Amino acid sequence: MKPEDFELLVNPRITQSRGEKVTMAEGCLSCPEIQVEVSRFPEIKVRALNAQGEKISKRYLDYVARVIQHEIDHLDGKLIVDYEGSLYYPKNKQGFFEKIFKSSHDESSVKIMLRGNPW
Ligand SMILES: [Zn+2]
Repeated sequence: MKPEDFELLVNPRITQSRGEKVTMAEGCLSCPEIQVEVSRFPEIKVRALNAQGEKISKRYLDYVARVIQHEIDHLDGKLIVDYEGSLYYPKNKQGFFEKIFKSSHDESSVKIMLRGNPW
């Protein structure tokens, strides 16, 4: 990966969030094979340090704003499974995932993914 392929944010903090939250199914490498619907702001402003240790403040929109909110959740110890949204998992592993999630998610919000993984 080249340095221009990614953006480094050290100790990021959301200082502003705008717009009506948008709900989308998200996946995460920390929670393999599942997706959870998570509502997030479509526009955020973030304060952080860059790779050179300089203070930056930048606005992010839509998909990138979602990714940054997801990653900041990780820094706060929060995963997609901590959200109450509908949960999707592969049908062939229904028994396994139901055992894990039935206690933590409302049963009516649990949906089964009928096809193979979309990702
Ligand atoms: Zn993640």
